[in-house]
Amino acid sequence: LAHEHIAVRLERLASTDGMAGALVRRAFMEQAAGLLARHSPDRFPVSLAIVDIDHFKSINDKHGHAAGDQVLARIGRLIGASLRDTDLFGRIGGEEFGILLMNAGGDEALARVESLRQRVARDECTLSSGKGATLLRCTFSAGVDEYRQGQTLSNLLARADAALYAAKSLGRDRVVVGSDYPYPLGERPAGGLVRGASVVDEHTRRMILRENAETFLGLNAANSMANKEKSA
Ligand code: GH3
Ligand code: MG
Ligand code: MG
Repeated sequence: LAHEHIAVRLERLASTDGMAGALVRRAFMEQAAGLLARHSPDRFPVSLAIVDIDHFKSINDKHGHAAGDQVLARIGRLIGASLRDTDLFGRIGGEEFGILLMNAGGDEALARVESLRQRVARDECTLSSGKGATLLRCTFSAGVDEYRQGQTLSNLLARADAALYAAKSLGRDRVVVGSDYPYPLGERPAGGLVRGASVVDEHTRRMILRENAETFLGLNAANSMANKEKSA
């Protein structure tokens, strides 16, 4: 029994990221894949958000790596505090977080991540160093997408990542939901793309689609493969 107890604690230690209180990448991917495999989206929706801190390299360059670590830990805690018990939260890259939002469709996930974006953008992080305290603000960009029946975790990750890429190219400090990305223009009603809190206009939308043509071609291929697997 004592051994089991230790094993459970060791597993927890190996799965969580000491700095940001999130799951480490491997644990996040395993648990997310497990949840999706058991999930059928007609019962309730699931969305994925990828959150990436803006210009983090320049924070390190200007204030030092230790300061970067403090900022990262603070943002990790802010995200963690905004989550629900059922959400899955992981640090999937150096300054990149994944959130699997259970029971949230694309619109709701977008609203929740957008409110988190505003909270982080308003937050002032106090960096203490030998020279005294410095106040620092920083922002993040995020890509969000809703899980669809028959898709794999990597399909969902690729779409959320394409939405994140669009958020970065649109100027950062914003959340983009990518539900209508893999579809040709016009096939879905406008309004799925969001910039900050306002909907992206058609010109910007076309620009993103053109800029990311390669990504979208890849996504379309992934989607039609998933559809073929489904109908086979
Ligand atoms: P962008 O807005 O395009 O995301 O710019 P960026 O500078 O955030 O992106 P980029 O991917 O070029 O750089 C990420 C930086 O994050 C580089 C790396 O040194 C830093 N980083 C990654 N993990 C950590 C960490 O654990 N601690 C600190 N201090 N820095 C980290
Ligand atoms: Mg990054
Ligand atoms: Mg970054």
